[in-house]
Order: sequence, then C-alpha cells, then structure tokens
Amino acid sequence: MALIVQKYGGTSVGDVDRIRNVAQRVAETRAAGHEVVVVVSAMAGETDRLIGLAQKLAPRPNERELDVILATGEQVSIGLLSLALQEQGCAARSFTGGQVRIQTDDVHTKARIVSIDAERVQQALKAGEVAIVAGFQGVSTEDEITTLGRGGSDLTAVAMAAALQADVCDIFTDVDGVYTADPNIVSEARKLARISYDEMLELASLGAKVLQTRSVEYAKNYGVPVHVRSSFNDRPGTLVVKEDASMEKVVVSGIAYNRHEAKITVTRVADRPGIAAALFGRIAEANIVLDMIVQNVSQDGFTDISFTVARADYGKTLEIVQRVAREIQADKVMGDDRIAKVSIVGVGMRTHSGVAARMFSALGKEQINIQMISTSEIKVSCVIEAKYMELAVRVLHDTFGLGAQAVAEEQA
Ligand code: ADP
Ligand code: ASP
Ligand code: MG
Repeated sequence: MALIVQKYGGTSVGDVDRIRNVAQRVAETRAAGHEVVVVVSAMAGETDRLIGLAQKLAPRPNERELDVILATGEQVSIGLLSLALQEQGCAARSFTGGQVRIQTDDVHTKARIVSIDAERVQQALKAGEVAIVAGFQGVSTEDEITTLGRGGSDLTAVAMAAALQADVCDIFTDVDGVYTADPNIVSEARKLARISYDEMLELASLGAKVLQTRSVEYAKNYGVPVHVRSSFNDRPGTLVVKEDASMEKVVVSGIAYNRHEAKITVTRVADRPGIAAALFGRIAEANIVLDMIVQNVSQDGFTDISFTVARADYGKTLEIVQRVAREIQADKVMGDDRIAKVSIVGVGMRTHSGVAARMFSALGKEQINIQMISTSEIKVSCVIEAKYMELAVRVLHDTFGLGAQAVAEEQA
C-alpha cells in the first residue's frame, strides 16, 4: 500500500463529466488499496474569469481582496470532486488550504509556503477517506487567505507530498508528460521519459508551464519524486528525478518560451556606484521579480539599463521606474510589452561549447533579431519580437535535433 498524492489541473476538472472521470481514477487508485490525497485546481478558465471580474471593478485590484476572490475557484472544485467520489461510493472529504493549515507568508498573490500541518489530512486518511485539498491557496500567520502564484496547485501537491512523505506525487494534466518543447506549438516535440530537477527547474522558470517553477524547486529540495502524466489516458508520463550520468550526453534537452514578459529600458543613467541599487531596490520593495538585466558599457559616464518583468507586473513596475528615473535624473524610460523570450536548456551545456553560437545563428538565418541575451550554466535565453516566437521555438527545436524523427534517425 502506498500513499499517493494526485494533482489534477484545470482542464482535467474543466466540466462535470471530467470531474466524474477524475473521481473514477481516484476511486480506482483507492480500490487498489492505496491512500490517496488529491489536490485540484479551479475549473479551466475560472481563475482568469475571476481576475477579469475583479479588474472590472478595480483596474489594479487590492491584492488581499483578489486572493479572497481567487481562492473560490479551487474551493468549488474540491466540493464538486468530493461529491462525485461520494456518488461513486468512495468516502471523501474536501479541505481548503486554511483547513489543512497550509501556512504561508503574507505576500498576496504570490505567497510562499512556510509550513503545513498535515494532521487533518492524516486523520481523514486514517478514517479511510480520500482527502481532497484545494490547490493554489494558503493562509498567512494573520489568518488572511493567500494564493501561491499562477499554476500554484502544483506547489500545493508537491508540498503536501513532502509533508506526508508520500511515495509519489502524480501531476495529472492535459498533455502526456514533459516534452522537448510545448507539444501544442511544436508537433514534432517528443515526450521525455525522465528529466532532471535542474533542467525541469530551468524549463519551468523559462516559461514551460507544465510545472510551476516553485513546485520543482520544492520537489528538488525535499526529494519528492514527481510524475507528470495525462489525466485522459494511462500511458506513463515523465519522471522528474535527480540528475544521472546519462543525462549529460544530451546537450540541449528542451526549448521553452515565455510571452508573458515585458521589457523596460532606462536611458542615460549615471554610471555611479549605488544607482542600480536605488533602481532595483525600489522594484524589489514592491515584491516584483526581475528576470533579465542588461547594462550597456558606459559612455561619457552614462549607461543604458534594460530589464524584463512579468507582464502582470508591467504597469506597476513602469510607475516605480518612472518615479526613480526622475530622482536619479535618468533621461528616458521606455517600455515594450510585445516581446517574447525563447530559451534552450540542457545539463550537457556544461561540457559542450558553441551551443549559444548555434542558437544565435539559427535565429539569424530566419531574420529574427535578438534584443537581449542571458545565459547560465545550463541555459541560453534570447528576447525577440513577440510575433516571431513560435517560429523561433520550431527552428531551435529543429536545430538541436530534438524531434521524434531526428532521434529515431540517430538511434538507427
Ligand atoms: P494544468 O491546468 O493541468 O496545470 P497547465 O496548462 O498549467 O496544465 O500545463 C500544461 C500545459 O503546459 C500544456 O497544455 C502545454 O501547452 C504546456 N507546456 C509548455 N511547455 C511544455 C513542455 N515542454 N511539455 C509539456 N507541456 C508543456
Ligand atoms: N487556478 C490557479 C491558476 O489558474 C492555480 C492552478 O491552476 O494551478 O493559476
Ligand atoms: Mg498548471
């Protein structure tokens, strides 16, 4: 008998028939003798709908109230799934994040989990029930409802699995696993049988939303075995595991893209110690996470600084930067939200050279201009004009031989 945490995403619980289908899967796992904790997301589109409603009343809604609204999405799903299970004769009980004490900090809309007191879940399991936990939500030390950032139900599942020392954390979604690129964009993308935590972490943070970034970080830190698989079939999915020697042989294992970022440039910034700290310090105080930062070589004592932020933070960041720019007497602040970031990821890059050059030349051949570049040990990212995003992903997938056909040829 194993203790299994299963997480079902928005599409998987998108309507009542799909919820029934999920209930059946859960009931089967239970009937096989396993203890099951289920984490569910809001029904597909519901979180966006709720954000839209809030924005009709307030263009930039108060984040405490927004969390109160957003948490309702998952609360509906847990109740519905519990009913569906009970109808199938399977004992089940639903819990909100607050009821199972998913304690977070107080950073509304992107709170971090501080601790979980899994006792109520354990009691339910002991009583023979399936425990159904609302994803994406927690409660702060001041008892305020918080949410864990978009895609945060993955994190709830992994954190639950860690707290309960579960045998596995199954992430059921609308694709068969983690692919070499988003299969909805690249039809030749290939499913990976295994991927290392580090590569998955890079892919996720670079935009592959199949797993939320923090959930991968958490899984890595607590050694939680994660299995990403389809909620619509029984095929094995992708195991996210510790790196092993065979993984280094592959130079590039995946391509990611992100079209939810925006670029801000501040021109003629005085090239003096403390200026960057003044600018970025103010952004950090607002809990805004920066991504790429590029500072040009200084000319006549001035420099230009460009950086990217999540598009959701674009307006707020522009306002802050415009204010700071006046204080530090910079020349101009320019914003562009029609950008996309494409990235290549692979642990093999540590030991292979020339990978970035191949990427730049592939983009160049397609006349795609590179606006910003950033690299780490196992990734290279380029910011490009948004309209070339899909083309860039396909071209890079091809250039690094990631397609099903390319691999079949290599093995022949
Ligand atoms: P859920 O609602 O189940 O949490 P998400 O929409 O958050 O599902 O994540 C699944 C989606 O992730 C897929 O439909 C796919 O479009 C996207 N995706 C992006 N990159 C990848 C990738 N490398 N492998 C698989 N899916 C990916
Ligand atoms: N419902 C939330 C979202 O859409 C959380 C999740 O689905 O994981 O971001
Ligand atoms: Mg998701």
